[in-house]
Parts: sequence; C-alpha cells; structure tokens
Amino acid sequence: MTINEELTAGDDIDSRCLKCKDVTNHTIVAMVGDKVAKVQCNVCRGLHNYRPVIIEKKTGAPRRAAEKGGQPGKPGRTVKEVKAEAFFRDLLGDREPLNAIPYAMTAALQEDDLINHAIFGLGVVARKIPPNKVEVIFPEGSRILMCAPDEKR
Ligand SMILES: [Zn+2]
Repeated sequence: MTINEELTAGDDIDSRCLKCKDVTNHTIVAMVGDKVAKVQCNVCRGLHNYRPVIIEKKTGAPRRAAEKGGQPGKPGRTVKEVKAEAFFRDLLGDREPLNAIPYAMTAALQEDDLINHAIFGLGVVARKIPPNKVEVIFPEGSRILMCAPDEKR
C-alpha cells in the first residue's frame, strides 16, 4: 500500500508562476485544509496563490484545431439525429409551415399531414396507427402521438 505524500507548508511543489510565465519550483507557504493555498516562487521569490500545473497533452492540439475550424453549425449531434432531420426535411419538402395543423390529441390527422406540435415543433404524419395514434416524423426523430380516432365512413 502506498501512502499519499502529504504536502505541508515548507514543501516544494511545481506551480505556474505568472511573473516567470513558466512552471517553476515553489515552496508552499500556506495550506487550506489539504490543499495548497499560497506558494512562493523559488525563481523570482514572488508570493502568489497556488496555480496547479496544467498538463498540456500534445496530442490534444489537432483535435482542438478541428473543433475550431470544423464543421459549420451543429456540433455534438449524432449521425442518427442528422439522418432524422434530413428525413424530416425530405418529407417537409416545400410545404408551408404556416399551414401546419396545430397538434392536439383530438386533432383528426391523416397520413402526410403537416402538424405543429407545441413541444416538438413541425412534424409530418408518416402513418396512422389505428384506431387513434399516428407516427409523426420530427426533425429529431419519430414519435407516436395520440389523435382523434378514425371516424367510420
Ligand atoms: Zn516566479
């Protein structure tokens, strides 16, 4: 079993020093609980709050560059979500969103109807699930919603 090295005032520790603009050897001046609070730079003798050494991973650089430049728009979306939205756009075509039927559980919906859901937004009815449900394609995927039961004709 290894015993954690306990730091106390007077011990040496690496810290970033703003004056030296580098990671330098410091002497711990004050502790708060088990955390290093104040340190003194052994190079410039400057007294300052302890700044933990941030280990910069060299391999992280290209990834960061990609994040900055990268794909415009929607970071962090899954392939599934992107596909769902593309599918939705296809279904939407050049329909007029203003003509969407406000969704309500009592709405009489037919296949291919464009609806406007209070939470999910615009959706296209993909199919009816008798007697009183519809599958609706929303930009983020499909959902089963209630609708008015089919009237017997
Ligand atoms: Zn310094």
